[in-house]
Amino acid sequence: MDTYFVDVILPLHIHDTYTYRVPQEYNGVIRAGQRVAVQFGNRRLYSAVVRRVHQEAPRYMVKYVLSILDVEPIVEERQMRFWEWLAEYYMCYVGDVMAVALPSAFRLASESSVTIHPDFSGELSDLSANEMRVVQLLSEHPVMSVDDLGRALGLQKMMPLLDSMIERNIVVLEEELRQRFVPRKSSYIALAPEYGEPGRLKELFDTLEAKQSTRKQVDVLMKFMQMSQFGKTAVPKRQLLSATEGAVVSDSALKTLLKHGVLRQEDRVESRLEQGASTARAEDIKLNDEQQAAYDYLSQCDKAVALLHGVTSSGKTEVYIKLIADVVRRGEQVLFLLPEIALTAQIINRLRRYFGDLVGVYHSRFSASQRAEVWGRTMTQDPGQRYQVLLGARSALFLPFRQLGLVIVDEEHDTSYKQYDPSPRYNGRDAAIYLAHLWGARTVLGSATPSIESYFNARQGKYGLCEMKHRYGGLLMPEVLCADMKEEMRRMRCEQGVQPGAGTTHFSPFLLENIQQALDNHEQVILFQNRRGFSLRIECDDCHWIPKCQHCDVSLVYHKATNSLRCHYCGYSIPLPTECPACHGHHLTMKGFGTERIEDDLGILFPKAKVARMDLDTTLQKNRYLEIISDFQDRRIDILVGTQMVTKGLDFDHVSVVGIVSADNMLYFPDFRAYERAFQQMTQVSGRAGRHGHRGKVIIQTFNPYHQAIRNVIDNDYLAMYESQVTDRRVFRYPPYYRLITITMKHRDPDTLNEVADRYARELRGVFATRVVGPEYPSVVRVRGLYLKNIMLRFERTEAIAQAKRIIMEMADKLKSDKHLSSLQIHFDVDPQ
Ligand code: ADP
Ligand code: ZN
Ligand code: ZN
Repeated sequence: MDTYFVDVILPLHIHDTYTYRVPQEYNGVIRAGQRVAVQFGNRRLYSAVVRRVHQEAPRYMVKYVLSILDVEPIVEERQMRFWEWLAEYYMCYVGDVMAVALPSAFRLASESSVTIHPDFSGELSDLSANEMRVVQLLSEHPVMSVDDLGRALGLQKMMPLLDSMIERNIVVLEEELRQRFVPRKSSYIALAPEYGEPGRLKELFDTLEAKQSTRKQVDVLMKFMQMSQFGKTAVPKRQLLSATEGAVVSDSALKTLLKHGVLRQEDRVESRLEQGASTARAEDIKLNDEQQAAYDYLSQCDKAVALLHGVTSSGKTEVYIKLIADVVRRGEQVLFLLPEIALTAQIINRLRRYFGDLVGVYHSRFSASQRAEVWGRTMTQDPGQRYQVLLGARSALFLPFRQLGLVIVDEEHDTSYKQYDPSPRYNGRDAAIYLAHLWGARTVLGSATPSIESYFNARQGKYGLCEMKHRYGGLLMPEVLCADMKEEMRRMRCEQGVQPGAGTTHFSPFLLENIQQALDNHEQVILFQNRRGFSLRIECDDCHWIPKCQHCDVSLVYHKATNSLRCHYCGYSIPLPTECPACHGHHLTMKGFGTERIEDDLGILFPKAKVARMDLDTTLQKNRYLEIISDFQDRRIDILVGTQMVTKGLDFDHVSVVGIVSADNMLYFPDFRAYERAFQQMTQVSGRAGRHGHRGKVIIQTFNPYHQAIRNVIDNDYLAMYESQVTDRRVFRYPPYYRLITITMKHRDPDTLNEVADRYARELRGVFATRVVGPEYPSVVRVRGLYLKNIMLRFERTEAIAQAKRIIMEMADKLKSDKHLSSLQIHFDVDPQ
């Protein structure tokens, strides 16, 4: 007998694959892409994925594979190559990639995942700092494994903390995951076709009714006829039995009817997903000239990647739908990526209209079994079951496509495409381009405000480029106006009749007048403020004491809902102090304002209006964001206040005024992308104004009305923004001319950190010379008790850096092999955002 071995990928942060021995009985059965159960370390069991089956016996003793978990492979060769590319490009291990790529339902119990309980109120006041941190992490990554949470919190034993949170219905340990994913089946009862003609059935009834012993069968049959519209449809077995009394007797009567072939039983797989048939044909969409030109260009373009630069509301989605229809007709699949789950809700309906049941949705807010089902329906060979249009946030990249023909990345500029933590720290847009390349498929990037990188690539001729400069249906671009806050403050002080008191300084009279007018006309308003909480910090007027986080180097943010001061980095929170602990003075004042304060003030200024807020604090619960969006859509909300969540491509019908409450926050952010980001966010939120008929108005509150970024927004001049930025980027050696890798080092002790950071930087300089910048402290020096230090590397665009990445990682491994530095953390961020 031959002896076989398998190399497997474990869902762990470790180098390479591991080799196991295949038990004889699995010879010929075990295949690449199947999951197997293996033991790793002392006792722990893992589900690993077979990468390769071979006969090269290792020189050391290896353990046996314990069992095969799948009949058919659940991942295919190309997917695993995609994982390997991600690991190499983003400087992590393939196990890290697999841990995020596979739906959690495919994991074993010891890798169980934690999610926020659907009934959790979002009330944070009675949570400990660690508990708050768990909630915060889960709001960023809705599903995390117990191990990952433990690592993020730096706790050896995570379960005691989780147990208490599970008991209080704050989180759930997904029980479903303890079993493997099993499709939910249910039995239906239908009339056998032979009994379809009335004469035959009547005859049967007569014979059955004649005898006492068959009375029960008559009951069941009568009930069945009634429930099935006289035999026309199938009836769920469960319902039929519960409708006929005395379930045990009915059950045996039903069995007899089935045995005699009067009725038939069918087992159907029940979907956990929403379905809907299409109601319109993509062929019937009439594109306008600009859209038609874009469609023609995109479907004939000979470049692998093409950028569609279309202003907000130019009708990019209709162009996508036409392109999708062509691919679907060829029997191939389309991946449609969006940066945020919140956006999928609106697009789903638009796609379902044309593609009905062919549309599958995949994202991290779905339950484990829903995701496993989408996974199965992406890969199935059964044409009646198979999804052809897959819509989702970045994790949809990992679906097991069979025949990918087109990838669409909408709102390609959006920073939410980037995953920060845990690794792989990948950019969904860039990964999508590589995925399409693996399939020989085309990628279409779409945006009203393309990233500098993508526009640069288009200008260089690396990507195709087409533009749509007008809104669909002759709608005008919104009118963008500045509220010059210096002027407005003066006006407020001089003018009579402006109500003094709460909030009036956050709102210029100009903005207030426009809000009032919109409300009078029964139109809606969106207000954007990029900070959450009530006041950004508290300060003692007498001694200038500012409350700071115990674990992080940041000031605490006041949240009125919980009357507490909270750290936005780690969740640490304390009750609002009544006096200054430093000087015992009583003059604590609030500085700066966030979304919560704006919502509060609006309640006072416009008591009749319905105001709602959409930010991280109000959307912790599973479907809360969907409720807010649909409430606003159906006009149960008049004014919607929010963080960048409200700037994204949501499409509302009755918004006439958009207010950017403090633009200056965005302009003076210490980051080389600040200008680009400010332009994108302001232009995007402006795009929410004035759809469906009327021109909208945008009001930007600023002390710097002549700042170049604001001028570019007012003139809707993307190109001017682009030109000024690329010049700066070239001069200061930033992307797109240079590629960046940021190395973040973390340690409890600042002296140790300084010493190793210097050592690492010195070693790096030995190889990469002037490409190395730093080490430097980031703007927040300490987070969750760990000091941070960054080293940056910049490489020219044209340099091949695969080899450089390997060297950088090897040096880091060598550094960490020092026993004194076992708690040192080193993170790599390739193409940081
Ligand atoms: P974008 O995504 O470019 O911001 P949308 O695709 O949301 O713009 O289009 C804006 C509005 O115009 C939508 O309500 C859309 O249904 C409508 N629209 C765009 N193109 C067409 C078309 N060819 N036929 C009918 N309606 C269209
Ligand atoms: Zn004081
Ligand atoms: Zn903190």
